[in-house]
Amino acid sequence: MQAGAIGAGLATAQAAAVPDDTRDALHKWEYKMPKNAKLLSIKHADGGESLGAVVEGGVIDLRATAKKLGLHAPSTVDELLRGGHADVLARIVAGAKSSGVPLLAESEITHGRLFANPGKIICVGLNYRQHAKEIGMPEPRVPPLFSKFNNALAPHDCVISLPPKEISTKFDYETELLIVIGKPCRNVAESDALDYIAGYCTSNDFSARDLQLELPAGQWMIGKTLDNFAPIGPYFVGAGLVGDPNNLKLETRVNGELRQSSNTSDFIFNTQQMVAYISKHWTLEPGDIIFTGTPQGVIAGKPKDSQVWLKAGDRVVSTIEKLGELKFRLA
Ligand code: MG
Repeated sequence: MQAGAIGAGLATAQAAAVPDDTRDALHKWEYKMPKNAKLLSIKHADGGESLGAVVEGGVIDLRATAKKLGLHAPSTVDELLRGGHADVLARIVAGAKSSGVPLLAESEITHGRLFANPGKIICVGLNYRQHAKEIGMPEPRVPPLFSKFNNALAPHDCVISLPPKEISTKFDYETELLIVIGKPCRNVAESDALDYIAGYCTSNDFSARDLQLELPAGQWMIGKTLDNFAPIGPYFVGAGLVGDPNNLKLETRVNGELRQSSNTSDFIFNTQQMVAYISKHWTLEPGDIIFTGTPQGVIAGKPKDSQVWLKAGDRVVSTIEKLGELKFRLA
């Protein structure tokens, strides 16, 4: 299918459905990425989630605006990227004024999930030099990988309901840069890797350390993917608005107290190296997301006698330069 033909005939997003016949066809299709968009997710009173575009003066409700314009708005960032429909997004934004749908004030929005059904949630562990030092581990020779499941995906301003004490008591934060893949890539060179990234988000690889590290075998997966243990947001920020992902300040605050303060320049494996390495092993698809590791300052990195684990009532704020402040509360 030719990209031009797709661009010319877009009455609705469904009309330009991505070919689903073969992987080869998928990879030849020209994915359009929203590289200059800043998006958030709106949780509506009817329970639905849809995207909003942050523009000067407010937020365009893409679902309501698209309806007026006879277009289809994707509900999540992963749906938007899987469809390669940045051009539809641009048409909805361009038609927002004439649609008569008023802009929303960001302060009135209840946030939904930016990602609901990504094909893969990949996590890189031990990826900051100072963090490797604080937990007494040697720097890895390749990026250590693990994964979370979709049940862990949670919105900005969410509440994480902690499991009962019989299950876990050692909860810890991990503020992380999230990479969002926008085009299929397989065995990509480091020098080309940024071309496949649609954008970035602030995220937290929330963790239960006793489950992760202390059970007889250390149940790493269980400790990482309990319900809502992957809050992401408040924004998806297109790569064109972010610039160099390997030089972004990160901070974590717990109940207002600064706990992590670092910069992605301390990465052991930078953004390009992570994408290149992962894509050597399997195909990365649009909408796939990559948690890129956390810097020093986690509770697990403190001496055992001074570890005070997170508890119900605590408020965590993860901040990444240019990507915004992700907040969540524990209950
Ligand atoms: Mg992590």
